[in-house]
Amino acid sequence: MSNTPDTDNAVRAYVDGHRAAFLDELSAWLRIPSVSADPLRAADVRRSARWLRDHLAATGFPVAEIWDTPGAPAVFAEWPSGDPDALTVLVYGHHDVQPADRGDGWRTDPFEPVIENGRLYARGAADDKGQVLIHTLGLRAHLAATGRRAPAVNLKLLVEGEEESGSPHFPELLRSYAGRLACDIVIVSDTGMWSEDTPTVCTGMRGLVDCQIDLYGPDQDIHSGSFGGAVPNPATEAARLAAALHDADRRVAIPGFYDGVVELTERERELFAELPFDEADWLRTAHSRATLGEAGYSTLERIWARPTAEVNGIGGGYQGPGGKTVVPSAAQVKLSFRLVAGQEVEKIQLAVRDWAALLLPAGIRHEITFGGATRPCLTPLDHPALQSVVRAMGRAFGRKVRFTREGGSGPAADLQDVLGAPVLFLGISVPSDGWHAPNEKVELGLLMKGAETAAHLWCDLAENGR
Ligand SMILES: [Zn+2]
Repeated sequence: MSNTPDTDNAVRAYVDGHRAAFLDELSAWLRIPSVSADPLRAADVRRSARWLRDHLAATGFPVAEIWDTPGAPAVFAEWPSGDPDALTVLVYGHHDVQPADRGDGWRTDPFEPVIENGRLYARGAADDKGQVLIHTLGLRAHLAATGRRAPAVNLKLLVEGEEESGSPHFPELLRSYAGRLACDIVIVSDTGMWSEDTPTVCTGMRGLVDCQIDLYGPDQDIHSGSFGGAVPNPATEAARLAAALHDADRRVAIPGFYDGVVELTERERELFAELPFDEADWLRTAHSRATLGEAGYSTLERIWARPTAEVNGIGGGYQGPGGKTVVPSAAQVKLSFRLVAGQEVEKIQLAVRDWAALLLPAGIRHEITFGGATRPCLTPLDHPALQSVVRAMGRAFGRKVRFTREGGSGPAADLQDVLGAPVLFLGISVPSDGWHAPNEKVELGLLMKGAETAAHLWCDLAENGR
């Protein structure tokens, strides 16, 4: 009943009719420099949280609260549908922004929004305030177009204030409010789509494990003529570890690394291959001159759907001018691993420990220190809620919606793990938006399409999401 051209037109008319007011509101929020990384901006981050809470209350959310953390506050809002059987959906975003300074190359003041040629320029325009606010405009359009007094799903919003600082208190926040955050589905609106002409839905993110391996040999640097060649050299062993990470096919050579990896389906490979991907363009964005990676996979498959190992840094011994003929006493190598669905953080950490212990000779003492880890997440293409997102986006954009994944890692996995709900992504940002860069912008047309998508999504999920 809701999926009709009439509803589509009513939603579009509402969104278009409220465009100017929406941009005024978004601009007011963007003027608050909520830079979570800067202690001098802590009061601004709080002001941003208060602005959002008031905005959500004015939108009609019966519950709109600020949730304090030991760092920056998050904002929570809730609007029950009134139907006891309704699906519960949690929308995630963040209200903090990356630092921005006129001197970094901004053409205008990063905290004084400017609209020019259909684009809104300001820090946070795309990442993530613009993408949070499409949900309030979309929700109002949903209510107006359907005549409902409450959303078709139980709608919750969680907008954190420390995402740009690595979400240090986010898992704890999720755990302490797990009851109030309970939901059937999570919608993350902090990602993008392929391009303005190619709407896409992201279906997963890779996980991350990183570590530093410290290697110790002689108690001090020693003469390479008197002792070299007869005792183990930690710098040589660091290089051997780095070189042993991959086999000749550039597959990761750590035993057990690929155990449980969810392989790409033929359908996914076909869909990735249909995307208008220009490798030469992509190489320019990679500041590199050739592609190289695991044999048998395309570039998109390598960065989205295959696990990887990377040497992030390696060092030790004499690095100064000229020569110094020593066997150094210590060396280090820093490694990171991107994980895909099916790989578990703890098993990978164990596999790395076993691998290093096996490769290193007697006389080299080593210590492995693991940093923070992030689990991978993936939603299957045939998941009913994913299909709802695709249909809602298709109605808003009037184009075929395709699929991507994200090679990076983020708090989506915490939401999935702590709340036990599948994570879906609804993002309308495009690569040219310049996240974290000078002159960040958002395309106004895409903001409106995003609001339309959000307006359609709640009815579709209510009907088909289970
Ligand atoms: Zn973001």
